Amino acid sequence: MSRTIRTYPDPVLKEKAKPVESVSREIQDLAEEMAKLMYANQGIGLAAPQVGESLRVITVDISGPERQEDLQVLINPEIELCEGETETDEGCLSLPEFRTKVKRSEQVTVKGLDLKGREIRIRSEGMQAVCFQHEIDHLEGTLLLDHAGRLKRNMYSKKANKWEKN
Ligand SMILES: [Zn+2]
Repeated sequence: MSRTIRTYPDPVLKEKAKPVESVSREIQDLAEEMAKLMYANQGIGLAAPQVGESLRVITVDISGPERQEDLQVLINPEIELCEGETETDEGCLSLPEFRTKVKRSEQVTVKGLDLKGREIRIRSEGMQAVCFQHEIDHLEGTLLLDHAGRLKRNMYSKKANKWEKN
């Protein structure tokens, strides 16, 4: 595996990711590698910028790395419909040791392309809906840090910059 999980303050995490023009072999390989990295790092969701590719590709599997039963790969995902409100305590593979509470929609319908380039729609709720919203945030360059208060954000930023130097 050539790619690795990028962590804050890697600038690729702040970029707005580019739409995928065609679902090529390279994109399929990227998605496969993302799923492997997601499972290997005990994650339930990953966005391409987190592996250093500024492209609109996400992987989500809320069944987790042990079961690996519900892998969803979405290319150029968009949230079509949001309903309800929920508050979750979230972490992120790109922000080690950081957690914060985030307000999310309780149910979302997400539209995008599958690995064969076909348009698909996924209705999700609960943890899967939260996960889609978290990963789609990454495509806009939005991190959990941006959902946290300024004090918490600054404290983490200082800590992360220190790790970076070591
Ligand atoms: Zn994340």
